[in-house]
Amino acid sequence: MPHNRKLFELVILGCSGGPISGKTCSFLLKPTDVKTIDLINGNKEAKDSFFALDAGTGLSSILSMLDTKGKEELNTIVSSFLLNLYPNCTDVTDSKETIYEFIDTRNMEIKSPFQDIEEIDVWKGNDTARSNKQLSNYQISDILLNSINGYLITHSHLDHVCSLVINSPSFKKKKSVFGIPFTIDSIQKNLFNDEIWPDLVSKELIDLHKIKPEVRYTNISTRYSITAFELSHGKKSDGTRYLSTAFLINDVKEDYNLLFFGDVESDLSSGTEMNSKVWNHVSPLINDDKLNSIIIECSTVDIPPPLFGHLIPTHLINECLNLRKKCIDLLNKSSKKLLPDDDFYRDYKEQPLEGLNMIIIHVKETLDNVNPRKLILKILKDLNIKYNLKIHFTIALSGISLLL
Ligand SMILES: [Zn+2]
Ligand SMILES: [Zn+2]
Repeated sequence: MPHNRKLFELVILGCSGGPISGKTCSFLLKPTDVKTIDLINGNKEAKDSFFALDAGTGLSSILSMLDTKGKEELNTIVSSFLLNLYPNCTDVTDSKETIYEFIDTRNMEIKSPFQDIEEIDVWKGNDTARSNKQLSNYQISDILLNSINGYLITHSHLDHVCSLVINSPSFKKKKSVFGIPFTIDSIQKNLFNDEIWPDLVSKELIDLHKIKPEVRYTNISTRYSITAFELSHGKKSDGTRYLSTAFLINDVKEDYNLLFFGDVESDLSSGTEMNSKVWNHVSPLINDDKLNSIIIECSTVDIPPPLFGHLIPTHLINECLNLRKKCIDLLNKSSKKLLPDDDFYRDYKEQPLEGLNMIIIHVKETLDNVNPRKLILKILKDLNIKYNLKIHFTIALSGISLLL
C-alpha cells in the first residue's frame, strides 16, 4: 500500500475544466520542506524546486489566496467558489465541512497555502519602495511568480496556458517553459508569434525547452527530475491526433514521485496504448511505495461520445483497472493473460492501489444546478467498491494545498 510521506506541496490555483475563466487548471509545486518565506527571501535552493504545473490561472489566484489569508483556518473563501456555483447542493453555511466531502484526507493532508508568511519583516534589500518592510499582497504574489523555476505545460490549449501569456509582463527575467516538442512548437507558433502576443522568445523573456518523451531529465532542477509521457487528447479537425502530456516528477533527495496528467482520453477512446505506457512506468513505483498520488482529469459524468478527448468516470476506472493489473502482474507472472476486470484481480489479497490518492481535476461546470463534482465522485466511489480497487478518490478544489 502506498504511504503518504507528505513530501510534495501541491498548491491548487485553479482546477476547473471551464467554462468560467480565471479558474482553469494551474498548480504550484514545491517540496514541503521549502517554506514560502524561503521563496520570498530569494533562497536559491528553494526557487530551484518551485514549479508551476500548467498555467490556466496565475497571479489573480495567488492574490486572492493572499487576500483571504488568515481569515479562515482553511481557505474556504477561495475553495468554496466552485461549490457555491451550485447552491442547491452546497450547504454554504458550513463550507469547511463541504471541503472534506470532496477531499479524502485518509492518506494526505490539506492546508491553506502561504500561511507561513504572517510577518513579512523579511525585506533585506535596499529598495526604498519596500523600506517600510511591509510588502503588499500584490508585491508578494509578484515575488512568488518570479520565484517559479519553470512552467511544466501539458498542452497548449488556452485553459492551460493563458496566465503564461497574461502574467508575462511581470517576468523580471527569462522564464523557462518545458513541454514535449508538440506543445512547445504550438506555443511558439500560436501564442508568442508577434500577432496575438509579442514574441517573448526572441525578446528573451521566455525560454522554451523541448523535452523528449520518456527521457528522465535531471538537469532542470537539483531537487526534481522530470519525465514526460505523451498522451492522446482527442483529434483535431484534420483528423490528426492532438497530444497532451503526463509529467512524472521525482523528488531526487527522497526518491519519491508524483504523477500529473494533462487533459487526456482513455485508451479505450483513442485506440492507442499511450496511457498503458504510463502505467507500465509507474506500476513498479507503486509496488515499491515510491508513488502515492496521481493527479488526473475527469471532465464530466458518464456521457455518450463524442468526449472531445476527455475522461469520464467509467473510462477512468478502466484505466485504474489496467494500472492494478500491471501492479499485480509484476508480482504474479501467471496472471498476465487475464483481462483487467477479471475477478482474479478484484479478489487479490493485497490490493496494490489501496490508499493511492487519485486527485480529480478539470471538472467542467454545468448549468443544471447540481454540482458535477458530487456526481462524478459518487460514480467513482461506487465503481471503486464494485471492483475492490480501494483507491482514495479526491476532487480537487482551488485555494488549498495538498500535502502528498
Ligand atoms: Zn485541453
Ligand atoms: Zn483543458
